[in-house]
Parts: sequence; C-alpha cells; structure tokens
Amino acid sequence: MPKSHWAWGPEPAEPELREIARLFTEHTGLGEPDAWERPVPFSPGLVPASRVPVPALPFCTADPYERAVRTYGQAYRDLIRAYRGDFANAPDLVALPRDEDEIARLLEWASGQGVAVVPRGGGTSVVGGVEARFDGPSLCLDLGRMNRVLEVDRESQAALVEAGATGPEINAGLPGGLQLRFFPQSYEFSTLGGWIATRAGGHFATLHTHIDDLVESIRASTPAGMWESRRLPGSGAGPSPDRWLLGSEGALGVITRAWVRVHRRPVHKVSVPVRFAEWVAGVAAVHDLAQSGLHPANCRLLDAREAALTSGGDGRHALLIVGFESAVHPVDAWMSRALEIVSWHGGVAGAARQDQSQDQSQDQVWKGAFTRMPYLRNAYPGLGVIAETIETAVTWDRFPALHEAVMAEGEAGTTTCRLAFAYPDGPAPYYTIIVPAEKGAELEQWDDLKRRVSETVLRMGGTITHHHAVGRDHRPFYDRQRPDPFALALKAAKTALDPQGVLNPGVLI
Ligand SMILES: Cc1cc2nc3c(=O)[nH]c(=O)nc-3n(C[C@H](O)[C@H](O)[C@H](O)COP(=O)(O)OP(=O)(O)OC[C@H]3O[C@@H](n4cnc5c(N)ncnc54)[C@H](O)[C@@H]3O)c2cc1C
Repeated sequence: MPKSHWAWGPEPAEPELREIARLFTEHTGLGEPDAWERPVPFSPGLVPASRVPVPALPFCTADPYERAVRTYGQAYRDLIRAYRGDFANAPDLVALPRDEDEIARLLEWASGQGVAVVPRGGGTSVVGGVEARFDGPSLCLDLGRMNRVLEVDRESQAALVEAGATGPEINAGLPGGLQLRFFPQSYEFSTLGGWIATRAGGHFATLHTHIDDLVESIRASTPAGMWESRRLPGSGAGPSPDRWLLGSEGALGVITRAWVRVHRRPVHKVSVPVRFAEWVAGVAAVHDLAQSGLHPANCRLLDAREAALTSGGDGRHALLIVGFESAVHPVDAWMSRALEIVSWHGGVAGAARQDQSQDQSQDQVWKGAFTRMPYLRNAYPGLGVIAETIETAVTWDRFPALHEAVMAEGEAGTTTCRLAFAYPDGPAPYYTIIVPAEKGAELEQWDDLKRRVSETVLRMGGTITHHHAVGRDHRPFYDRQRPDPFALALKAAKTALDPQGVLNPGVLI
C-alpha cells in the first residue's frame, strides 16, 4: 500500500483513528474528539514547483507526490504540517539510486550544480534530520532501493547489508537462524543507514544498546571518494573510521552498506513483569540490576501513567519488564537472581512469560505492541493534542533532580516517563509530554516546549539526545554540549569530505 502523505504507514481509515482517539481521551482526559479535524487530502498543487530541472539521470524525479511524502520526518512538528497540507520545504527532486555508481554520479552532479543532498532512509527522524529547512534547492537521496542482504559470513556471524534495508527486510534476508538483534520502535520503516547515521538505540536495554555495538565496518560514498573501513572484530589503530560515520547524520557521506554483527536467534527467552508501589523503588531496582553484571536484554521501567497508557497497567503501580534471552543456554538462573534483586526494593513479580521464539515468525516479533505503538500518533492532529518525546541519559547521582525538573515542565498536560535503557553509571529516561493544542499555534507551542525541556535537560547535566540524534531541532543545544575544539575538527572533516557543502546542510556543522 502506498505511504500516506502525512501518517505513519499507509493512509489510515477515519473510523479507526477516531476509535484510537476515543480510547486515548478516556485514558488521559486530553483531546477534543468532538472537534475532530480531518487531514488535507493530497493534491499536486500543495507542492511548490521544483526549482531544478530534472538531470538526465533515470532514477531522478520531480513528481509532486514523491516529493511530498519525502518532505518531513515523523516529529509532531512534521506530522501537523503534513496533515494540514503544508509542503513548503518539499525537496525539489527525489532520487532513488540502485547502486553505488548511481550515488557517485548523483553526488558529482549535485556538487557541480550546488544542489543540497539530503540522504534519507525510512524518514523516521524525529529531530528535523531529513527536512530541507535551508535556503536553496535540494534533492532527497532515498536509499529505499538499496535494501538487500548481500553476503553472510556464518563463521564470524556477520552480514553485509545495504544501507536502505529496513528492520524487517534485513531479518527476512538473513538465512534461517540468524538475526540482527536490533529492534528500535521504528523498526518497521527505519533503515540500517539511518540507524548508523543517527546512532540509534535498539531493543537491548542494557549492554549492547546502540547500533554502534553491532557495526563491524561501514562503506560510504562521499564527494571526495569512497570511504570503507576494514572488517575487524576490534581495532586500536588510531581513531575509528566507523566512529566518524556513526552519528554523522548524512553530513559527511552517504552510507551505502555495512557489515553488521548478527546473532543466532534466541531459543531461551523469559520475561517477567514486576510491579512497584513507588516509582523511586522501581528506579532503585533498575540501578541495582544495571550494576549487577546480569545484563538483562530487557529492563524497562514504566511509570504508573505510562504503564496504564501503553501496557495495561492499573494506573497506580510502576511496571518493570525484565527479560533475558540466549541462543545457547537456559536463562532461568539469571532471572532468579534478577527477581531476588528487585524484591529488595519491594518489587512484586507477576507470571513469567516463556517465549520460545524459534516458533515465532519474524512478523510476530515486530508486530507486537511495541512496534504497533507508533500508529497511535496518527490520531494526535485530528484530536487536537501536541506530543513530544524527550530522551536523554544522565548519571545516577543526577537523575532524581533531572527527573523532577523535566516532569515539572510538562505540568499543563500529561507527562509520562520510562527508563528505556540502563547503564551501570546511569539511566536513559524517555519522557512523553502531551498537552492540549492551541489550534493554529501548534508549531510555536511545540517549539516552546522543546526549547524549555531541552534547556532543563542540559542544565541538569543530561545529554541533548541519547538515541534520537541531533538533526535541526537539537542543533542549538548540541552546539553547547560538544567541546569547541571538537566542533572545529568536525568542520574540518566536513570541508575535506564535502568541499561544496552539499551534504545535508545545517545538521551537526
Ligand atoms: C514512532 C517512532 C519510534 C522511534 N523509535 C526509536 C527507537 O526506538 N530508537 C531510536 O534510536 N530511534 C527511534 N526513532 C527515531 C528514528 O527512527 C531513528 O532516528 C532512526 O535511526 C532513523 O532511521 P531512518 O532510516 O528512518 O533515517 P531517516 O529518518 O531517513 O534519516 C535520519 C538521519 O540519518 C541520515 N541518513 C539516513 N540514511 C542515511 C544514509 N544511508 N547515509 C547517510 N545518512 C543517512 C539522514 O540524512 C538524517 O540526518 C523513532 C521514531 C519514531 C517516529
């Protein structure tokens, strides 16, 4: 089904959206289901005329629909503009190359013409990473046709994958028994290249949390030539070339393919829900689990409101989901010890779920509640609510003060928190703030919310992002967080790799 010009996934049916909206309002008391606003249907006239003649490259187009669906990412700020038919920043051209040669030709053409190139994977950026929010003509370089698993090295448990492959495409392309164990909530549409370019965070809540840990080598096309690192399990040879591309957000090169570490599909899986009467007791339990050396695959703590909204919680208890998995050995001993640790903090364990995942199809893994959640967002613009997610990481000693300050910022609506990731030295909390929309002033309202909460996060010692990247929305805060000499080094790298400055102008540098 074709992608909607505004929604997550294909165009949703209105009755479905209204039902989601009704349940949402019932749970939160927010939104105006009776004042339902309908999306502006797509028409070519919504898209400004292209300022660039289509080059003589067969994989380029100036078709208005193709440009509209690639105008934005998926932040609320993007959703509301597309919903209202505002495509003012649509790229002038869209290119869908099939291989590295076509990308090289495109970069040569764009550098010569001074046309900005915005690399795009799934377009799930929530930080303005893929919007041509700058002066001058732009081209969206969509990697969607480069989506194959090219090679598998079973002995080393690694696979060579093209950058435009989405989560389901990667795992469907791997031979039986192997998986890339990386499951961000955007798994259905986001891509390997996007994960690498944004340093995405996946399913594993402790230990191997970022895509960084799963990348063995990267190949990228830059205006200055091909960049390819050697496949190695580890290396101490100077600064890592892969580390330069991890988090480069399309500003240094177009990632074309990468060798990634894959794993045998786990056959021993167990997870247990644990309830806490107090949020702080749950936090103390996660702290002790993170420092225990057990490294649970799942260790997500939801506050009582978030648990009620997303996981069938009773609205009074915080909920911790602890899970272990292994392809090799039973994990019951690890779980027993983890439950002992949580009991020190008053955690009450529910029934264990033994999940024999070899019986599950790939589909069932990602069609679970976790990856269905993004579809709920489709109801926000019609309902008249604004939603923003803020994610950060901070050391344990500073977490209580940061948490209190961020929760205070969202007072006007509903603010929920989950600890999405936990490290021995600190958690990565994830806040969802939902407030009633002021019709017609949603962008200013969202910008103000973003600015206030980002200021708070920086002031309280957190990072401006743990896994959503910098993009254009976090840029002013990122500039304050990074060391000045490092900013100079980044700028120099940009000049060396992209002398005409055509690659994704405005992000990072
Ligand atoms: C509902 C929802 C849930 C999400 N859940 C998570 C989550 O659990 N964990 C998480 O980390 N993030 C999450 N995100 C954010 C987003 O999915 C990630 O940032 C993801 O890594 C983006 O991948 P993408 O393929 O969609 O990249 P895009 O959005 O297309 O691009 C993101 C950035 O990467 C650059 N880029 C993309 N592909 C390439 C390439 N091949 N070469 C060079 N640069 C490139 C773009 O120019 C842009 O700067 C979520 C977003 C949504 C909307």
